[in-house]
Amino acid sequence: MDIKEPHGGWDKLWVEGRTLWDLGEATPIVVHLCETGSLPNGRALIPGCGTGYDVVVIASPDRYVVGLDFSKTSVERSKKMFSSLPNSKHFSFLEEDFFTWEPSEKFDLILDYNFFCAFEPKVRPLWAKRMQELMNPGGELITLMFPLDDRVGGPPYQVSVSAYEELLIPLGFEVISIVDNELAADSRKGIEKVGRWKKKKKRSE
Ligand code: SAH
Repeated sequence: MDIKEPHGGWDKLWVEGRTLWDLGEATPIVVHLCETGSLPNGRALIPGCGTGYDVVVIASPDRYVVGLDFSKTSVERSKKMFSSLPNSKHFSFLEEDFFTWEPSEKFDLILDYNFFCAFEPKVRPLWAKRMQELMNPGGELITLMFPLDDRVGGPPYQVSVSAYEELLIPLGFEVISIVDNELAADSRKGIEKVGRWKKKKKRSE
């Protein structure tokens, strides 16, 4: 399976500024979850973070956040944009490939927005395996599931709730909740859900 191929492609989009997915601000539902104290503390990861507004907004003395992106251009830009913020010691941006990166410690929270849908469906089992490997037992995965429509091709590739369930449940994740994202951007309303998954402490099989 060739997952390396789009690498240059993504960086080119960043160089050319063709980043239509970028909201230009932190994701409202992520801000809401953070402000209502419903995000786990500890170590958090946002793979394919892009600009990384969410990285910065959820970082705190109780939650260290790693924003990962394999686009050199994007990571350099994020570092420049955010490194002088008062909470900058609570986050970092790393230029790494999610599929091969080996961090020294695992994570208590992983947030996926517009990352799962960036890959062709054949890559998804590997995405799920990495989520399982990178998560601490008892940790939480939050998937903003978009686009839940019937488009053909991508990215973003069409997703479905069952696609996530079929991948994550056999790997020891259980559903905490799956609800419509009422705070989705207008063009994404009705085709975006918030999935919250817990990695069980022990595999049940
Ligand atoms: N989550 C961000 C960006 C989504 S676009 C947002 O919602 O705004 C997908 C991002 O994933 C791009 O920035 C791309 O460079 C990055 N990406 C794609 N494949 C990757 C990989 N294998 N490892 C790390 N980052 C990757």
